[in-house]
Order: sequence, then C-alpha cells, then structure tokens
Amino acid sequence: MYPVQPPRDIAIVGAGFAGVAAAVAISQELGPFVPDLKIRVFERAEYPSTSGGAVNLTPKAQQHLAHLGVMDELDRMGTYGGADVDAIQVFSMTSAHPIGSFDFTDRTSNSYGGYKGRRVMRVVLLTAMISVAERAKVEFVYGRKVTGGKEIDEKAIINFEDGSECSADLVLGCDGVHSPTRTKWVDPERRSEYSGMSFLQTTVDTKKLSSRLPFDSAVHLSRHGSLITTYCDRDREQIFAAAIVQFTEEDLDYYRLKPGQDWSTRHCIRMSLRRSLQRRFRKSAEPCVKEIVHSDQEWILYPVYQIRPGGRWCSNRVALLGDAAHTMPPIYSTASYALDDAILFSRVLARYRSAPLTTMFKTYDQLRRNTVDRAFAESNTIWKRMKDRGPMEEFVKEWKMSSYLRHWQSKREEEWMSDAAKIPIPTPTPEPSEIAVTSETLVST
Ligand SMILES: Cc1cc2nc3c(=O)[nH]c(=O)nc-3n(C[C@H](O)[C@H](O)[C@H](O)COP(=O)(O)OP(=O)(O)OC[C@H]3O[C@@H](n4cnc5c(N)ncnc54)[C@H](O)[C@@H]3O)c2cc1C
Repeated sequence: MYPVQPPRDIAIVGAGFAGVAAAVAISQELGPFVPDLKIRVFERAEYPSTSGGAVNLTPKAQQHLAHLGVMDELDRMGTYGGADVDAIQVFSMTSAHPIGSFDFTDRTSNSYGGYKGRRVMRVVLLTAMISVAERAKVEFVYGRKVTGGKEIDEKAIINFEDGSECSADLVLGCDGVHSPTRTKWVDPERRSEYSGMSFLQTTVDTKKLSSRLPFDSAVHLSRHGSLITTYCDRDREQIFAAAIVQFTEEDLDYYRLKPGQDWSTRHCIRMSLRRSLQRRFRKSAEPCVKEIVHSDQEWILYPVYQIRPGGRWCSNRVALLGDAAHTMPPIYSTASYALDDAILFSRVLARYRSAPLTTMFKTYDQLRRNTVDRAFAESNTIWKRMKDRGPMEEFVKEWKMSSYLRHWQSKREEEWMSDAAKIPIPTPTPEPSEIAVTSETLVST
C-alpha cells in the first residue's frame, strides 16, 4: 500500500487549546517535509474565546507550551502573562485549618524541568498561542460553525452552518466536549454527559478588598463544595475565585442564562446564583475568602461535562483531539492533555507521513489511549469527593486528604517528568527514507 502522499491541506475545527496547539505542532513537525503545507483553523466564534476564567498550568503543561514556543510569548505579556504558583494550599473552610498542599516544586524547592505552577487567564494564554500560530503561517477563519462532514475518495469535506463547505486532506476535530465533528461525523453514539458538578467563577480586583489572601493560591474545602482562590496576574492585582459545587440538572436549568430572557429575569438568576454561593460558603473562617463570597461580584456558571472513555477517535481522514476525544472533569491541569495530544499526534503524523492516515491514526491511538483512560478514572475519583456531604463525612474527608496529597505528589512527579515530545514512536514499515527512495524510483521508472 505504501507510499502515499503526506497530507498537504489540513483543516482544524476549533481554535481552543487543542486546535491551536495542533496547528503549531504540525507546522513544526510536518512543515519541514511538506514545503507547501496549508493549515487552516475554523472557529465558530467571531474571535478567540474569552470565557472560562483562569487556568492552572502544571510544570508539564508549561514544558509543552515552551516546546511550542508559547512560554516566551506569554512572558512578553508582562503582568498578564500569569502568576507563578509554588503550591496550592489546602484548607478547611470553616476552621481555616491547613490540611496540606499540592506542591509544584520538589522537596528542595526546585522547579520541575525549569517550571513550577502558573495561573493565567484563559484568553491571555489563547492569545499567546494564536500569535505563535500566526507567525507559523496558520490561517484562522472565525465565525465559521462546522455542522458535520463526509469523506469522498481522497478528501474530507467539511459542512458549515451557512451552507458552504470546504475540502481538506486531513481534518482534526478539536471542537471541545460537545464536538460536532464527533457527534455528527466520527462517533455519533458518543454524547457528552453532565457530571453533576459545576463551576461558579469570578475575578475580583484586590483594590475592592480590605484583606489580603494569606496564600497566593489555595483551595478551601467545605461540606457544600470547594472554593479555589488564586492570584492570576504577576502584580497580584486580580484574584480568580472558582467554586466547585454540586448542582442537579434541574438546578442547571434554573440557573442557566438563556437567549431571549429579558434583563430582569437575567438579573434574578444572577442574584439567586450569588445567594446560593453565599449559603454554601457563609461559614468561611478566612477573612479574605469571606469578603469575596459576600462581595457583589457576578458569578458565572460553567457546568462540567464529560465523555465516557472508549469510542472512536478517528475515521479515514478525520481525527479527534483534546476534549472532543476525551473530556474529563478538570483536575489541576486537564488542558495539558490537549497539549499532549497535539504534540504526540504531530510527531506521529510526521513520522508516518508516507503511510496511510489510518495506519498513522492507529499508532497514535495505541500510544495515547491508556494514559487518557487512567486520567479519566482519577479525575472521576477526585470529583466524587467534591459532592455535598454530612459533617462527619466531611471530617473524615479532611483527615484522609493529607495522605492523599502525599500520594498525589509522588504520582505527579512521575507524570511531570514524562514528555509527549520524547515518547518513542514505533518505526513505520517500511521506513520513511526507504519510502522516499521507492517513491522516486517509482516516479522515474
Ligand atoms: C469550568 C472549567 C474550568 C477548567 N479549568 C481548568 C484549569 O484550571 N486547568 C486546566 O488545565 N484545564 C481546565 N479545564 C479544562 C480545559 O479547559 C479543557 O481541557 C481544554 O479547554 C480543552 O481544550 P480543547 O481545545 O480540546 O477544547 P475547548 O477549549 O473547548 O475548545 C474548543 C473550541 O472549538 C470551538 N468550536 C466548538 N464547536 C465548534 C463548531 N461547531 N465549529 C467551529 N468551532 C467550534 C469552540 O468555540 C472552542 O474555541 C477547565 C474546564 C472547565 C469546563
């Protein structure tokens, strides 16, 4: 069957972390072998997404961003480039008693591979990534909502909401948890499901507060959910606060802002969301946390969805990356799985550039699937512990937490030292060099 032409025209659906990282990584890995490589990213929004508050980046996520050339870009953004996080301290909300910490440095306070943790606004990180991609000649097309697609002969055809279509040699579905590339094309059976938990997020100007956070980054545990508080800029002028709370599907229906609602309905929903948060965390013993909870901030609701493991990640000319393939409830740095996907996929694509795409997809799946399934299982275990509970259950949970944190540290050290840019990739048969010779020979004869 070998050799085949490498894909020259690549279409990526979605300009989130997975899509932009894939665009940069493919231009780095495949670009040197395909001089006329064309990469287009189709995004349904009119501009890069500003939603989602601040993301926490682990040392590993930053190593990947550095590999893509994004850390330098982020550092050039000054104070907005994010706040370094040595550790996330864990407290009991009602007693302010310290329980332990998620450390991003080793026992001798050294970073991992040159990086600790970092908290950065999502839009800032995405902007830095897009700047790097644009320099690599990636084309971004905004306001193009993909509705499905088909494969005809050697091409994949993408359909857009406005009735237009475009063709490509390879399509990457990086369109998030509710991915139409998955549900309308690659694996219609696999639907996202609500996890039963939601985030309520806000950003507070520190000038509005009379007290300071005792730690740069902390999570406060309570019976009725957890609250993360963290600085998200280098000058510590902004605090990002995110509550993780249990909400039923009915709660979601009640609290969700919907198109067409008038101003007063929306105002009532915002007020009741704030009251719900204040009821949950009113017993906070930490003055700054109490002030944030009782401030007049608007809290934005983000329901957390997941996709059960298993299912297809590809068809003949389409592959799914990031949340489109495997959404798990977020734990410390879920975004780094999207970056891992992009880097590993691009390396396999370059290595298997003369092999059929289906062979390349299979190799990627074999290298990636177990890691992602393990992460899903772990994230579900952690999220089950966040559900509402009685006072005694909460007491036991806090008591067990310190031993869990020690276990977490040793597991993370191992994970942070692994690197998608270095995972050995099996040799295709025949070797690309042999294929090139064979190909030339075939052409000249
Ligand atoms: C509330 C919340 C908090 C989180 N916090 C963290 C955190 O602190 N740290 C962390 O590492 N991870 C966090 N995560 C997880 C992280 O956000 C995701 O893992 C990551 O965003 C996945 O990236 P992605 O590119 O695969 O998907 P997305 O970021 O969802 O990007 C998908 C893109 O596709 C576009 N798109 C969708 N449909 C279409 C269509 N039909 N046509 C064209 N474009 C389309 C979307 O507009 C979007 O731009 C959090 C997740 C949630 C929900």
